[in-house]
Amino acid sequence: MNVYDSARMADVLAPLGYQPVDDAAAADLIILNTCHIREKAAEKVYSDLGRLQLLKASRGHAAERAGGPLVAVAGCVAQAEGEEILRRAPYVDMVFGPQTYHRLPEMVARVARGAGTALDTEFPPEPKFDSLPLPAAVGTALAGGEVPAVTAFLTVQEGCDKFCTFCVVPYTRGPEYSRSVAAVEAEARALVARGAAELTLLGQNVNAYHGQEEAGTVVGLAGLIRRLARIDGLARIRYTTSHPRDVDDALIACHRDEAKLMPFLHLPVQSGSDRILSAMNRGHDVAEYRRTIDRLRAARPDLALSTDIIVGFPGETDADFEATLDLVREVTFASAFSFKFSARPGTPAALLDAQVPEALKDERLQTLQALLRAQQESFNRGMVGRVLPVLFERAARHPGQIAGRTPYLQAVHAQAPAAWIGTVHDVRILAVGPNSLTAAPVGGAESGPLAAPERISA
Ligand code: SAM
Ligand code: SF4
Repeated sequence: MNVYDSARMADVLAPLGYQPVDDAAAADLIILNTCHIREKAAEKVYSDLGRLQLLKASRGHAAERAGGPLVAVAGCVAQAEGEEILRRAPYVDMVFGPQTYHRLPEMVARVARGAGTALDTEFPPEPKFDSLPLPAAVGTALAGGEVPAVTAFLTVQEGCDKFCTFCVVPYTRGPEYSRSVAAVEAEARALVARGAAELTLLGQNVNAYHGQEEAGTVVGLAGLIRRLARIDGLARIRYTTSHPRDVDDALIACHRDEAKLMPFLHLPVQSGSDRILSAMNRGHDVAEYRRTIDRLRAARPDLALSTDIIVGFPGETDADFEATLDLVREVTFASAFSFKFSARPGTPAALLDAQVPEALKDERLQTLQALLRAQQESFNRGMVGRVLPVLFERAARHPGQIAGRTPYLQAVHAQAPAAWIGTVHDVRILAVGPNSLTAAPVGGAESGPLAAPERISA
């Protein structure tokens, strides 16, 4: 979501003459768009700010506010820490949360005319989406690229009312809010008109989406997906992140019969222990998660799953952790994100007595990640020899090679025509590399020599 927000900030600033640059040293305005979800991410902001202070000083503006480069801290760290940032880093010019970046032009103007720092961490009554322009080219503007984005993010829902006891999102992103169907559709059409063939619908709890249609009726995520699926030129739809509690019959049916909806679902479970799920306030137990997976797989047998898991939640015993491993063994995930519990200020779990020692969290994380890695490798190996539709997104590093993704979000490299970029083509999977699959056009030189797959991050 921060990638999406950063692109929208670039859109808001474009009329003021700001263009993205590749090098911070060349910038007149530097925005750190921050994440507060775990301590490590939040602390990184202060080390990055230290480097920017040196940069500011080297450009001779150490003592001045006017001139440049202006330095801003945006996102959830800004929302959570507000004035504390200005206290620890007084050379920062602007601090604003995720709900106020549509006011960036006013903030920049105010700071540039020397009227002091800007601090805006409100939850304004006017939703920011009403004030944002249609996207210029989400996904490419930030990279400074000329090539239209083949895949794009689109925020449809934001905030959260679920208050899991470990999580800062309800405090930093605020209450749950769904954009109207018409607003989402207009943005989707703009993205497709600019070359996007795949849209990933975003929300902290994207399947809690309940947006108004033009007639005033309210539709859930399934209704929204079916509307967007009618857009010509849009080949693929994905959504993330969904909550197990909000997987309804309509969404399962959508996975069964909406061809544009990809058979890949990120459905965080967090723990395989009922005791821990209850302490986390997740609102479901392990049996319900299993049932949901069974129903999804019955509707869409080739559905691949991904998840989020936290190890070392306060009070997690060896038996609780074993239950998580058991659930992972039973469900099998194509990919997953796993984290050590990080005590976040202001959340109930941070105050619990039974904090798990760091060394034990490390040990559990390694055990879990070894299992998840083995499952991912086995899932990827299972693709070898199969023909899969791949949406090609860009040229790869090696001459003649292009890169894209399978329906299951696996990165693929193939020796294929550059003209395929932006479109879906069937390719045969030849081999599995550490970070991507290698493929060849069906009926083409399948046994011909192929360059080594480029390393790309998962
Ligand atoms: N709304 C999604 C859900 O309910 O599953 C999750 C969104 S959250 C922004 C992304 C992931 O960060 C969570 O699924 C969780 O695994 C992880 N996370 C959140 N707070 C955490 C914490 N305090 N410590 C460790 N991981 C955390
Ligand atoms: Fe955080 Fe997700 Fe729980 Fe909301 S549902 S509090 S975003 S983990």
